[in-house]
Amino acid sequence: MTSKHPETLALHAGWRRDSATHAVAVPIYQTTAYQFDSAEHAANLFGLKELGNIYTRIMNPTNDALEQRLAAIEGGVAALALGSGQAASAFSVQNLARAGDNFVTSTDLYGGTWNLFANTLKDQGIEARFVDPSDPEGFARATDDRTRAYYAETLPNPKLIPFPIAEVASIGRSFGIPLIMDNTAAPVLVRPFDHGAAVVMYSTTKWIGGHGTSIGGIVIDGGNFDWEANPGRQPALNTPDPSYHGAVWSQAVKPLGPIAYILKMRVTLLRDLGAAMAPFNAFAFIQGVETLPLRMREHSRNALAVANYLADRKDVTRVIHPAHHTGLGAERTAKYLPHGQGGLVGFELAGGAKAGSTFINALKMFYHVANIGDARSLAIHPASTTHSQLTESEQAATGVTPGYVRLSVGLEHIDDILADLSQALDAAKA
Ligand code: PLP
Repeated sequence: MTSKHPETLALHAGWRRDSATHAVAVPIYQTTAYQFDSAEHAANLFGLKELGNIYTRIMNPTNDALEQRLAAIEGGVAALALGSGQAASAFSVQNLARAGDNFVTSTDLYGGTWNLFANTLKDQGIEARFVDPSDPEGFARATDDRTRAYYAETLPNPKLIPFPIAEVASIGRSFGIPLIMDNTAAPVLVRPFDHGAAVVMYSTTKWIGGHGTSIGGIVIDGGNFDWEANPGRQPALNTPDPSYHGAVWSQAVKPLGPIAYILKMRVTLLRDLGAAMAPFNAFAFIQGVETLPLRMREHSRNALAVANYLADRKDVTRVIHPAHHTGLGAERTAKYLPHGQGGLVGFELAGGAKAGSTFINALKMFYHVANIGDARSLAIHPASTTHSQLTESEQAATGVTPGYVRLSVGLEHIDDILADLSQALDAAKA
């Protein structure tokens, strides 16, 4: 596929037809194993002399079509579909950092990612160093000899201030450290590789699927990072791996392209920890991807209209939307999200926490759910739900205040979206 246009790639990249049946739609290859052509063929596959299907925990043709399609849209070289966004976040770091190592991460994270980094990875001996993304130099200051990666979300809620991808990627590259971007909230709208990131991950559960039917994640390799340039900085890719006959990943897969990072993840972490995406879910995500560019435009248009509406209401004290920032936030929106700012809107009610919960209870069309990125409009009160496992000071650090409400604006007609908000706001005022 030679096109660079996401609308075209979303329909065509990574798949033309099934070679056996000529089926146009990507089939669900619901199989566990694959017949080898010969003993030599099997040995080549296991020895990575040839890429091909061995066992569905590690690769599957339906997943492969999804991986190729999303890698193409993102401008990367290869991808790995996983069972959830959480698995994608964990693997993206564990692929580089071992016990005793650290990585530097933005404080502005999804609550589940925060927990994973602050507790579970810590228990595994991998230290997350949290820094405020308003100052990119914080990443440099937190870096030492054992820092293996930088990590951030492109458009983190609740603040919805775009992350300074180019600035932090460039600091990382000066140390030999890759920037991993969670681009869940801004697919198509931002391509982090264009700004110097080395790895992109998604919770495909959100806008990539768009239908709210399936949990999944993906890690995409930009193929744009020189893992060998500073071998001491990236030992996981530059020292013999005892779990794979002493393979040195930056060398072993060179003939297959610049895919050392993602191939290592597939044949070690996915092999051993098993967080595979089911082929049925890969099929569901492919259905979503077909309309992803179109949907991101409509989500962005509706969310901006909602933000403008809320800004005019007297009972709303604060509207959080990328196009409503001033100062640094406005500069970053202009740089990273000039053509659409995604589907998220936050706001604070004059009546605080009590008005927030009355508002949520009064919604008739919006769903009250712990999710974002569905085609339907969704609302939640983060302090009592998604961020409730954080301490109050951790909540404050991620920008969640008691009266804050988050909306994931869907694809319904804008008149219906505004009508539901209007009646619920009136109820919260009463
Ligand atoms: N990253 C972000 C930005 C998210 O919003 C979420 C889930 O809400 C995740 C990662 C985790 O993804 P999943 O729920 O698919 O495990």
